[in-house]
Amino acid sequence: MKAYTIHVTGIVQGIGFRPFVSKLAHELRLVGTVRNDTSGVEIHIQGVDADCQLFVERLQSELPMHGRIDTLQMEPTDVQALDDFTIILSQDVKGNAFIGADMAPCEACLRDIQDPENRRFHYGFTNCTNCGPRYTIIESTPYDRDKTSMKVFPMCEDCQTEYDDLSGRRYHAEPNACEQCGPMFTLKDTDGRVLATGQDAMEQAKVYIQNGSIVALKGVGGYHLVCDALQERVVLTLRQRKGRPRKPLAVMAGSLETAKQYVYISEREEELLLSPARPIVLLRRVRKYNVAPSVAPGMETLGILLPYAPYHYSLVPSDALWVMTSANRSGDPVLYDDMQAEEELQGIADYILAHNREIISPVDDSVVQVVQNEPILIRRSRGYIPLSIPVVPLEKSPTMLAMGADMKAAFGMNRGSHAILSPYMGDMEHQRVQDLLWSTTKRYEELFQLQPIQVIVDAHPGYYTSQCGRTYAEKHQLPVIEVQHHHAHVAAVLAEYNIQEPVLGICFDGTGYGPDGTLWGGEFLYCHKEHMERIAHLSYAPLPGGEVAVREPWRQALWYVKQLYPSEVPAVIEQWKKTLPKGWELLDKMMPHMQMVQSSSGGRLFDTVSSLLGLGYEHLYDAQLAIELEQLALSENGNILDMKLDGTVLDAMSLVRSVIEQLENGESVAKISANFHRTLIYYIGQMARRCCEERHISHIILCGGVFQNRILLEGVIEELREYIVHVPTQSPMNDGGIALGQLWLGSYMNR
Ligand code: ZN
Ligand code: ZN
Ligand code: FE
Repeated sequence: MKAYTIHVTGIVQGIGFRPFVSKLAHELRLVGTVRNDTSGVEIHIQGVDADCQLFVERLQSELPMHGRIDTLQMEPTDVQALDDFTIILSQDVKGNAFIGADMAPCEACLRDIQDPENRRFHYGFTNCTNCGPRYTIIESTPYDRDKTSMKVFPMCEDCQTEYDDLSGRRYHAEPNACEQCGPMFTLKDTDGRVLATGQDAMEQAKVYIQNGSIVALKGVGGYHLVCDALQERVVLTLRQRKGRPRKPLAVMAGSLETAKQYVYISEREEELLLSPARPIVLLRRVRKYNVAPSVAPGMETLGILLPYAPYHYSLVPSDALWVMTSANRSGDPVLYDDMQAEEELQGIADYILAHNREIISPVDDSVVQVVQNEPILIRRSRGYIPLSIPVVPLEKSPTMLAMGADMKAAFGMNRGSHAILSPYMGDMEHQRVQDLLWSTTKRYEELFQLQPIQVIVDAHPGYYTSQCGRTYAEKHQLPVIEVQHHHAHVAAVLAEYNIQEPVLGICFDGTGYGPDGTLWGGEFLYCHKEHMERIAHLSYAPLPGGEVAVREPWRQALWYVKQLYPSEVPAVIEQWKKTLPKGWELLDKMMPHMQMVQSSSGGRLFDTVSSLLGLGYEHLYDAQLAIELEQLALSENGNILDMKLDGTVLDAMSLVRSVIEQLENGESVAKISANFHRTLIYYIGQMARRCCEERHISHIILCGGVFQNRILLEGVIEELREYIVHVPTQSPMNDGGIALGQLWLGSYMNR
């Protein structure tokens, strides 16, 4: 008889790990205990030594579906007087770093809800240890039912039996429930009158949606607005009521087969659509079957997601394509509080279909696109949050708080070598997003029992997140480290792949604060561990009017025009000027006398070209014009136009001139857009080669929001195929990944 204590870390909580351990021990006739602790799971086993060894082997090889073992320590210990194997409920244990993410129903649970003989037929909150809500319902840790929003639903006898049944997949499934004992849906009109409950509420809401109404639906992480994506009239109404003129709306397809009628889906994309995280996947449209034009104007792609909660399966017919967009007001964070929802949805939704399971932590839907078979995250939220990202050099680091950046804000903390990022919160210019930043930081501290002793902020002095980090540091008397924005973008990828050697980081981005007081964003950075050196960049252009010029790209375009044609302006540009908003002449006159901040931003170059091609004079949502410029290029093959490489400067002016010449030659905007993309790809490649040869570098990192442009990303990867090119897949390309890079840099700067 031998006895061992085994300690396991990784994703081992909330995924049915303890029941799995218990089952395995019983099979091998071992006695002992298993319990969650602060950093993972502790197992005590005793029995025949060979069986104990086999137990450890099978523990790793037969791990439950969504589990992940990062470390496993096994030490001999004293044999105790035990006659069974039991799960010990975690008491007085502080939180742990490995709370699971919310998962779509597993195959087995889906069968339950689709089987008329099953007691869970059509029950919308069905789950088991392999699936169901996690992060959004957990109030505090360790993960036990009484610490979730399920605590107000005492289990009925049948559910309790399942919960206690060692052999079943609902053994210790904390959110276990059925129609008798669990949460339920209610359909209300906007006056708060209850129209129906339970399955009737589903059926009625379905009919309302089919008949052209807008229904607010409470999801796993927040409220959605739902309407039929094939009825133009209702989609337009939704846009008007929400004040969202153009931003593409996500759609939920009732089934994969239905989705395939509207978009092309590769194997990898199908895998993502069906993954337990069920993100929105950006997919190329099939033109034959069309959705209402207002769903995604100007877009060749559609953002599609499949049902991600059991109740979606009873609500959304399998042949339906429904708009499923977040219900919050533009700029606000996710709407998840029931009282607030009832108030704010007045005048927006016709009906409210809500359940009575409280959402403790709000999360948006995640957004992903596949590029060169790699999933590129655009928004990392539901289904991914709060799974930790292993970052080896963080191993010996104390806990740090990395504040991220102001756009697409997400902060991060680490517990040892695990980086835990917050969900996407929004843009910090909005008060409610600022509030959410504070409350989520506090939640993370409590949930994961983390007490940062170091704060890392973006070097931008005006960022709210930076100020917030400083206030936090002051309150707790902690040191603050500043990190340059694009350096952090590169470092996020260093962290993901644990790259220790020097790399060339190519960061094309919006605008980020540069150490020289200018705004960077078209950068070729030599990076090695915490060291960074700018070795080349896109040429500078000013932002006439600062922030306004970011919103209204015609302003910078006008500056380019003025530089290129000081006296005689081509006819096409004369024409273009006529489309500009009133007051442009004044700016034109004032410009030589204005103090203007200089920027090397790649994002702004895309904006300038979009403006010159007549796509619009202001963004109706973040990066709209650049996104629509890319869409135009999808249908054409590009040629390489003239662009100058001037030593370490990639000359944007020469490329803008080429674009205008194309306009003069009467090329179509689609063709010009394709040429513009192709040219930029080619010259980024040329510049990258120069940099790599000079510094003897073989690793290249592509990052920054501009690389969310699929044509650009694919093109540059292809162009630089003789190098080892890395792109971020664990954190977003955009500023949502900044916190991860900040953590990596923090760990080196601390040494
Ligand atoms: Zn399940
Ligand atoms: Zn029940
Ligand atoms: Fe950025």
